[in-house]
Amino acid sequence: MDTHASTTAETARRRAELAAGLAAVHGRIAAACTAAGRPREDVTLVVVTKTHPASDVRLLAGLGVRDVGENRDQEAAPKAAATEDLDLVWHYVGQLQTNKAKSVARYADLVHSMDRIRLAHALSAAAAREQRTITALLQVSLDEDATRGGVSPADLAELADTVAELPNLTLGGVMAVAPLGVEPARAFARLREIATRLRAAHPAANMVSAGMSNDLEAAVEAGATHVRIGTAVLGVRPSLR
Ligand SMILES: *Cc1c(COP(=O)(O)O)cnc(C)c1O
Repeated sequence: MDTHASTTAETARRRAELAAGLAAVHGRIAAACTAAGRPREDVTLVVVTKTHPASDVRLLAGLGVRDVGENRDQEAAPKAAATEDLDLVWHYVGQLQTNKAKSVARYADLVHSMDRIRLAHALSAAAAREQRTITALLQVSLDEDATRGGVSPADLAELADTVAELPNLTLGGVMAVAPLGVEPARAFARLREIATRLRAAHPAANMVSAGMSNDLEAAVEAGATHVRIGTAVLGVRPSLR
C-alpha cells in the first residue's frame, strides 16, 4: 500500500472539509453583519480547534485562518509549539487555573477568560517573565450560579481597574458564554450593556467576545467583535480523552 498517497488523499479530503466549514461560517458572519448594519471587518472569527489535531491548525492556517482558540492548556501548549512556524494569534478561551498562567503566558496572545484578581496578578507576572504582553478579556458571568466561570457584573469594575494597571496585561474588553436555558439574544443584550459600561471607564477596551456555533448571529446582532467557533468549522468534536 502506498502510505504516502493515502495520507495525501486524507489531507486533501480534510482540507476540503475545513474549507467548506470556513466558507459556511464566513457566510453566516457576513449575513449577520449585514442584518445588523455592521461592517464585516468589525467581527473577527476565532476558530476554536480544541480536541482537533495540530494538523488541522496547519490546514486552517493554509486556508487563511489567523486567529485560533483553545480551552485547555494541556492541549493548547503542545499544539502551539507544533505550529510555532505559522503566523497565528492564539486565544485562550477556557477556564484558567492560576497555576497554569505560567504555561499559557508562553503562547497566548489573548486570554478571554480573565475572571478574578488573583488570576490577573498571576498572568501579569507570568507575561512579564516571558517579556510578552497579553490582552485580557474579562469573562462575565451572565448566570446566577457562576459554575461556568466568570466575574459577576457587580465585581467587573474592580477587576477591570486591576487588569488595566498591571504590567504586561492590556485590558481588551469582555467575554461571555450564553447561559444554558437563556435566550442568547437576551444574554448578549445584557453583555452589550456591561461592555458599554466598561468602555465608559476604559475607552480602549472595546472587544466583545461572544457567539459560538449555535448563536453567532445573536452575538453579532448584539455587537460581538470576536466570535468563537469550533463545531461549525471543524465538525463535531471527538469526545474528550
Ligand atoms: C468550545 C468553545 C467554543 C466553540 O464552541 P462551538 O459550539 O463548537 O462553536 C467557544 N467558546 C468556548 C469558551 C469554548 O470552550
